[in-house]
Amino acid sequence: MSDSQVESDRLLVALRGLLVAKGLTTPAEIAERIRSTDTASPARGAAMVARAWTDPEFRALMLADGTAAAEAMAIPMRGLPPLGVLENTPEVHNLVVCTLCSCYPRAVLGYPPFWFKSAAYRARAVRDPRGLLEEWGTVVPPAVKLRVVDSTADYRWMVLPMRPAGTEGWPAEQLAGLLREGDMIGVTVPTATGPQPA
Ligand code: FE
Repeated sequence: MSDSQVESDRLLVALRGLLVAKGLTTPAEIAERIRSTDTASPARGAAMVARAWTDPEFRALMLADGTAAAEAMAIPMRGLPPLGVLENTPEVHNLVVCTLCSCYPRAVLGYPPFWFKSAAYRARAVRDPRGLLEEWGTVVPPAVKLRVVDSTADYRWMVLPMRPAGTEGWPAEQLAGLLREGDMIGVTVPTATGPQPA
């Protein structure tokens, strides 16, 4: 372990001790939050998207209040920044970035992938979003508006992609299997052929 790691560990222990001493949180609450974050994965977001594709009432809730929709699926959201959901349509494609650091909807997608945290992604999503999407193999036709949305410490965003053609009548579980984490950030779009190897 490097000196800076020892230093940051000391800082963490001291801060945790202070928060508990001041009655702002408890060791049990901290343990629960760590457990919840560790168990979150893109499967949660995929289940929400698949349900939105098959349940109009849930879709309306998800677009109006992402936090409430996540809680309706038993995803723990207490104490977390609100979750906003951006709907992709034939007219608008949404792309999520945190230009400042790496704010990510962890409760519904798990830990952010390495590329989301990279300076290259954060800069290029703003400077040249269409070029960035092309490198992912995602072609957004010129007539479709590209909206880049900044995720922050105060508000986390996920994308509700369009349901792929050719999936009529599919059950939600099968639809969820088509979704990759990038589909819910807007770098990729789901297709009926399902996730491709990375
Ligand atoms: Fe951030």
